Amino acid sequence: MHKLNNDYLEDAVEDSMPFAAQGEVNTSLPDLDGTKKDLLGVTILTTDQQKFTGGNWEQTVPMQSTSKIISLMLALHDFGKDRVFQAVGMEPMGDFFNSISQLESYDTSKPFNPMINAGAIAVSALIKGHNNNNRFERYLHFLQRVTDNQELHLNEQVYEAEKANGARNRALAYFMESVGTLITDVEEALDLYFRINSVMMNCDDFAKVGLFLARGGRAPDNDEKLIPANHLRTVNAIMMTSGMYNSSGRHAVEVGFPCKSGVSGSIIGVVPGLMGIGIVGPAIDEKGNSTAGGALLRKLSQDLELNLFGDG
Ligand code: GLU
Repeated sequence: MHKLNNDYLEDAVEDSMPFAAQGEVNTSLPDLDGTKKDLLGVTILTTDQQKFTGGNWEQTVPMQSTSKIISLMLALHDFGKDRVFQAVGMEPMGDFFNSISQLESYDTSKPFNPMINAGAIAVSALIKGHNNNNRFERYLHFLQRVTDNQELHLNEQVYEAEKANGARNRALAYFMESVGTLITDVEEALDLYFRINSVMMNCDDFAKVGLFLARGGRAPDNDEKLIPANHLRTVNAIMMTSGMYNSSGRHAVEVGFPCKSGVSGSIIGVVPGLMGIGIVGPAIDEKGNSTAGGALLRKLSQDLELNLFGDG
């Protein structure tokens, strides 16, 4: 087993970097500094309060689909498991994250799971608040507490791009309205979804979300328990089965701990009881996962013996 330290992590980033050549940067995102193909960064935060970094860990990118685990936590907090899983399923889906055809195939009244776009829009609609500004403020406040970073904010350029490129998500949301899954205002649910996708984070922030899930849902500043154990278990299990789009099965075999990726090349990893991992690697494969980030996760899992299903 390798020893985890900054030198090891720098070498691991260097070894994984060539895999960026196998991916492309998502063209629907604005051309921000963080969306360069040849970037790869990682932060690891351990439950015994150590921090290790490698590569371009300071680079910020939009959360994109990594936001889906935050909205799931908030919806579970606001409405409980029974209500949330009336609106969305718990099953992995072997198709692209924005699939329209799959919306009808599992259960006409709900999307497969909260990690695909339709499921996340349905879940966002369950976040409580007296208007959309207030719902987004609650989302951001929760995220700021979990990451202990008051500076986190929405990037207007990304938000505008989400709206401008949102036809597919609108189609999913209006379909869900037509079958009675979305009972709130559709445009408001979409607007909230677009906003929560647009918050900028770096590897430290992504790792802090992972650490939060790895250490019992406790606030990093005062250890207050923000999420009960049963909700944490739900979120980690859904990340394990569906967090890496339609590569989640392969990910479970080759990496073996819960992760959630976003098309910005971001990844949040959770090794329960041990560590949170934050990765940014903007070149993604056709399924939406960071190619260099995936290589890095496989390497970390192997070298540090992190696979929950056993090593070897
Ligand atoms: N903005 C993207 C969408 O809604 C996010 C998808 C993702 O990261 O998977 O299509």
